[in-house]
Amino acid sequence: MTSGTSALAPNSRRSAALQRSASPRPLQAVEADIPLARRVVVPLRPRRRGRLALGLGLLSLVLGAVLVIVVPRLVGQNDIPWAGKGAVQRPAADGRLLGHFPYQEVPAADRINVAPGLELHRDAAEALLALQSAARADGVDVVLLSGYRSLAVQQQLFFEVKSERNQSALERARVSAPPGYSEHSTGYAVDLGDGAAPQTNLSQDFDQTAAFVWLQANAARFHYVLSFPPGNAQGVNYEPWHWRFEGSAQALRVFEPAQRLNR
Ligand SMILES: [Zn+2]
Repeated sequence: MTSGTSALAPNSRRSAALQRSASPRPLQAVEADIPLARRVVVPLRPRRRGRLALGLGLLSLVLGAVLVIVVPRLVGQNDIPWAGKGAVQRPAADGRLLGHFPYQEVPAADRINVAPGLELHRDAAEALLALQSAARADGVDVVLLSGYRSLAVQQQLFFEVKSERNQSALERARVSAPPGYSEHSTGYAVDLGDGAAPQTNLSQDFDQTAAFVWLQANAARFHYVLSFPPGNAQGVNYEPWHWRFEGSAQALRVFEPAQRLNR
């Protein structure tokens, strides 16, 4: 490149243009003097800058309000994370919403993969793997169908399926928990199937399978219990496939309110 003079020339032209800009020459004439590369970074005029600052100020106020008001509701336990969705139920005095207890999401650091795309709390995972190998030794194939579910996935399962099936929130809640109220978000709950009878997956017919009979006899040894037995006090439909892990102090604490209600 021929650097020297050609590099200096635009600079000197620019300082000349800047000096001239103080004079009352029309703006266009001034801009024509400034090399193209300089023109595109011409600073905003004070009035536009003021408007921009006001706009940014308002934007950060709105974002602040969203952070302070909306986010705590989404993660909070005692408010309705979905009031804007046409559902107006408030949690009962014991914190339950449509029969379901509120649950915190298991932190990512406590989750591990147990099968492709399926995560559980590490304690529940360890116990489940032991349960599955004990079942296998008895000739029974206990399959993990669902484990940890994020709030976003639960949101989809509740609202989108609800509208697809034209269900009311109350009807939907008998078969699925509202987001923030699913045992699956704790990483301690599992939906189990029988590898030899996949047609019974997530159906009450699962209780006719060898896997269910085996679970009834053995799951407690691995600290898994049926969350929603027939006629449960929570009023949730019988779910023979849905089990939860209660084999650690933390898991026991998480499910203590549900246990107390069903006692
Ligand atoms: Zn489930």
